[in-house]
Amino acid sequence: MQFPESNITSPLSEKTNNKRHFLANKPQFYLHCPSTEAPIESLWEIAAQRLQLLQEIDKLRSRGASFQELTSAIEKFLFLRRQQNEYYSYENIITDRLYDTESRDVLSHYLLRLAFCKQQNAQAWFLQNETVLFQWRLENSPPTQIDTLIDQLQAVWSDEEISLRKVVKNLDQDPEFAQLYHRLYQKLPSSMTLLLYQVPFEQVPELLRHRSVIIRSGYAYLFSEQLTSFLVSRFRSVLSKGLGVLRKMEHFAEEQEQLNLLLESLRESQKFFVNQFSSYSLKDAENLEKAIHLEDLPQAMFHMPLCMFRLMKRLEQNHHLKHGARLQLGLFLKDCGLSMDESLHFWKTEFSKGGISSDKFDKEYAYAIRHHYGREGKRASYTPFSCMKIIQQRPSAHEEHGCPFRELNSASLDTLLQTYGVEEAGCRASIVQKAQEGHFQVACGMTMQMKKTGQQIATSSEEFSPTTTHPNHYFFDSLATKENLSHS
Ligand code: SF4
Repeated sequence: MQFPESNITSPLSEKTNNKRHFLANKPQFYLHCPSTEAPIESLWEIAAQRLQLLQEIDKLRSRGASFQELTSAIEKFLFLRRQQNEYYSYENIITDRLYDTESRDVLSHYLLRLAFCKQQNAQAWFLQNETVLFQWRLENSPPTQIDTLIDQLQAVWSDEEISLRKVVKNLDQDPEFAQLYHRLYQKLPSSMTLLLYQVPFEQVPELLRHRSVIIRSGYAYLFSEQLTSFLVSRFRSVLSKGLGVLRKMEHFAEEQEQLNLLLESLRESQKFFVNQFSSYSLKDAENLEKAIHLEDLPQAMFHMPLCMFRLMKRLEQNHHLKHGARLQLGLFLKDCGLSMDESLHFWKTEFSKGGISSDKFDKEYAYAIRHHYGREGKRASYTPFSCMKIIQQRPSAHEEHGCPFRELNSASLDTLLQTYGVEEAGCRASIVQKAQEGHFQVACGMTMQMKKTGQQIATSSEEFSPTTTHPNHYFFDSLATKENLSHS
């Protein structure tokens, strides 16, 4: 069935007719715990809807979707959910106290916060996807909403914490500032009185990099439309702190049986999603007719994420890899489609170039490969590692596995990216900077995006930050992009 594109309006623009889905509510920092009472079935309903939307966002992010693609997918999702709610008379089962979209929004956010604050991975997952939801809402909000958000922050944060001030600049009385304005924008504004936001310059690295902001005496002066990335990073940090605080007091929910049951169910549902989503199994690959074989490996290398590309290169140069690297790469190749016999052949051929005899290989290395395929030991077929798992490993200085965005210094990462095919120095610099800031999966998503487009990501999508969650996912998405390109 064709989706009725033309009927879709931005959910935020539906404010006036009260038909807005609660997940399209205005952006907010969720600074206060809700005190609303609500029937448990309503809580189940709104929490499940929020979780589904975050899962949709997560899938799109990991495919490296652009912010525009993400926006249209969220709008479609909310459109369909709203239709469904109306069909099932959902409005009727929500009590008056829960009728307004804001209460539903706040409650559903806190329910998921409560469910996911316990466990680090779930917490990180929630944080990333809620941040995208916040950004999407922000991008769809009128400018007055930005002032409201800043007022919210100013009201609860100390001066040192928020460090953002609204200032009025009269250019007639401040010729030095007028000069800076003129130098940056090549003209003077129509009005000599400007309303600006003053913020320590280190808090807006994106704007600094693009040299698109006035800097004076250690402060950046922003117009309201330049505040998006600042507010998004504030949201992330407020939520991250909130999750930490909640984790310490989370036991109170355990005393309430009904609520505890709901939270457990949300955790299970999220775990199921992550497992299903991150296990890009061989079966899936074959179904998609995308499985690769031994002869495809040389061409396939450039579709592998940087962690696997680096190991393939090391193997090519040294004809040997240590245990951790063999495990990381071996399981990855297995789920890319390499059969056990192909894997044995592949590793044996490479190791023989380094002087390891066939006999030694059979005795010392072949067992582990058969083990990965469930033919030895417990006979369990092992799944490849997700990004989270790879990033959490900390290899020693002599080992090669792990995530290069985390393990390599700036110069080595830059060189590796160059070998990988990111030719533009500016692109490499942005990726390296993201990695240095600790956003390893975002840096990886940017690498994929830059390879796709062959150029620096536009500011809006850079702020949106595509994120990689699984190396096999990255690989098949990169292959699919190549196929799409060759068919277009
Ligand atoms: S983010 Fe994930 S896929 Fe990318 S290099 Fe790191 S571990 Fe590999």
